Amino acid sequence: MSADVTRRVEVYPDREVVVEFDPELTFECVEDCTWCCHHGVLLYDKDLLELAQRANLAETTTDFRGEKFVTREEKGRDDHVDDDGCACAFLRDDGLCTLHLEEDWKPTRCSVFPLAVFLEDGDLHVDIRDSAHEHCEGLNVSERKVIENLEAFLPELLWELENPDSDREL
Ligand code: SF4
Ligand code: SF4
Repeated sequence: MSADVTRRVEVYPDREVVVEFDPELTFECVEDCTWCCHHGVLLYDKDLLELAQRANLAETTTDFRGEKFVTREEKGRDDHVDDDGCACAFLRDDGLCTLHLEEDWKPTRCSVFPLAVFLEDGDLHVDIRDSAHEHCEGLNVSERKVIENLEAFLPELLWELENPDSDREL
């Protein structure tokens, strides 16, 4: 398939995406990378309700441009932090996610990375985030094709949102 040809994939019954990345692309998260957890992820409304059952929202979330995000915080360590020493409030010293580990849950946007989603002409499109090409260590290091595992990246909630666009972050 050439780069300018798109294809539709049914991820759930009657839930399609238009795939815009190379269908040969593979992905497997690399232990100890943690780059995508150095940011503050956007919380969709349903995520916020779920998070409220698991954490103190006053301590772990922040408002930005009218939307809720997980707080980035100064970690006081050298590993698993961005250049400014900050990372997601839930990223532990050992590079693991507190929510994932202790609650077996994580916000929708954490599943989506390293993909980007956006609405165009009423269709949900999926591509690789520009920043992921530069920073995500998990691209093309395994045999696991992204296009064959889209349900792992795209929770069904995304089709229910007025604005699922993933280009919003702290
Ligand atoms: S909530 Fe967990 S998975 Fe999501 S960015 Fe924070 S540490 Fe990473
Ligand atoms: S940037 Fe990529 S390889 Fe690194 S933790 Fe995130 S998904 Fe995994």
